[in-house]
Amino acid sequence: MNQAAKVDASQMLSTEVDELIERARHLGETVFAARAAKYDSEATFPFENYDDLRQHGFLGLCIPREHGGLGADFQTYCLVSSELGKYCGATALTFNMHACTTLWTGILADDLDMTPEQREEHERRRVGHFRKVIEEGAIFAQPFSEGTAAAAGKAPFGTTATKVDGGWIINGKKIFASLSGAANYYGILCTEDKEVRSMRDTIYIAVPADAEGVSVVGDWNPLGMRGTVSRTLLLKDVFVSEDAQLMPRGIYHQAASRWPHMFMTLVPTYMGLAEAAYDFTVRYLRGEIPNTGPEKRRKFPTKQITTAEMFIKLQQTRALFERTVAQARIDPSKRERLSAYATQYTIMENAQDICRLAIRTCGGQSMLKSLPLERMYRDSRCGSLMLPWTAELCLDRIGRESLYESGESDE
Ligand SMILES: Cc1cc2nc3c(=O)[nH]c(=O)nc-3n(C[C@H](O)[C@H](O)[C@H](O)COP(=O)(O)OP(=O)(O)OC[C@H]3O[C@@H](n4cnc5c(N)ncnc54)[C@H](O)[C@@H]3O)c2cc1C
Repeated sequence: MNQAAKVDASQMLSTEVDELIERARHLGETVFAARAAKYDSEATFPFENYDDLRQHGFLGLCIPREHGGLGADFQTYCLVSSELGKYCGATALTFNMHACTTLWTGILADDLDMTPEQREEHERRRVGHFRKVIEEGAIFAQPFSEGTAAAAGKAPFGTTATKVDGGWIINGKKIFASLSGAANYYGILCTEDKEVRSMRDTIYIAVPADAEGVSVVGDWNPLGMRGTVSRTLLLKDVFVSEDAQLMPRGIYHQAASRWPHMFMTLVPTYMGLAEAAYDFTVRYLRGEIPNTGPEKRRKFPTKQITTAEMFIKLQQTRALFERTVAQARIDPSKRERLSAYATQYTIMENAQDICRLAIRTCGGQSMLKSLPLERMYRDSRCGSLMLPWTAELCLDRIGRESLYESGESDE
């Protein structure tokens, strides 16, 4: 483990974390909230929001300070991201793909075992990746899904990387590639092309969006999270250099096995959505949302009770969120790993439920497209469908791993 980097990350003072959250809130309140409806109705990427994120240094949020970034650790990232989720779900969700590429390549990789040669190689390569973000304002995407068992972590990726002189040739297809057409680099997970393909040979590599053989196809007209523009990415004989690797050969598999919380970075977006739905409900019932009056609906006891129920559910969800993001680390205990699955499950399911309760409690006017609640309701729907930790797969893992120790079977 690189102790220096670890110390640097944990040195972020609570006042610095608060300042970052405040910066995210300011952007959210003053610009993102007002733009969200347009991206949603047009299903277009929030480019203007990314210009603002870039200008305020957020593209380097998880890049270590010695590389010019803001040096946020896992917990800080999650707290900032949940703040963004309150104002524009699609911006927060796509920001996750970008920021976590830098988090995984940055402080998460510092925790992993590497030979001195791998460490030196990784350090040299990530300087280049980070420079693209800090100096050129580049955006990274994370298209992993292929419509097979690979994104669920149960099979090797079908996208292949074939070793050639000076680099790799990538071939394959990625579905739901958020930031398609917007990202400058796609952080692709693929399998080294060997006779017998193995998940251990997963390669994590940055493919430039303008490389020959990269194309974005298909339409994009989903229920929610429409601004993510998650179209299909085709990779046909794409050459990428050795230095495009985001982790040394074979290291991604170690990361996925030893740092499981890396897969729960989507939850802050939905935590933020749930909070926004609750906040909207309170303002609506108090008569503070323009053009929805004149009735102050807070006087009805049933609405007071549902508001209390929503608040309790939100508090339970937030408590689990804060505890789990504070626990994230390499080689967590079994209890901590199961707790991460339970947190993902709870936040994704409760975000939908809180949005559902919000619409039922506020009433018919609240589902008009002129108000943000119906967008939150649609955006919240897909959280529990996100691989590798869908609601179903979390249940599956918690049940099995509670009852069986590694290697145990009843056969
Ligand atoms: C708005 C949006 C943005 C997205 N952005 C990205 C992105 O940027 N990058 C990316 O990689 N993906 C992204 N995804 C894709 C997402 O993570 C899932 O891969 C996708 O929703 C899976 O859809 P599917 O119908 O192919 O699922 P399927 O693979 O058909 O799975 C359907 C369900 O079956 C269950 N299941 C799947 N595999 C197994 C298994 N092996 N064992 C048991 N149960 C299983 C799961 O519960 C799953 O929900 C995005 C999805 C959405 C909706």
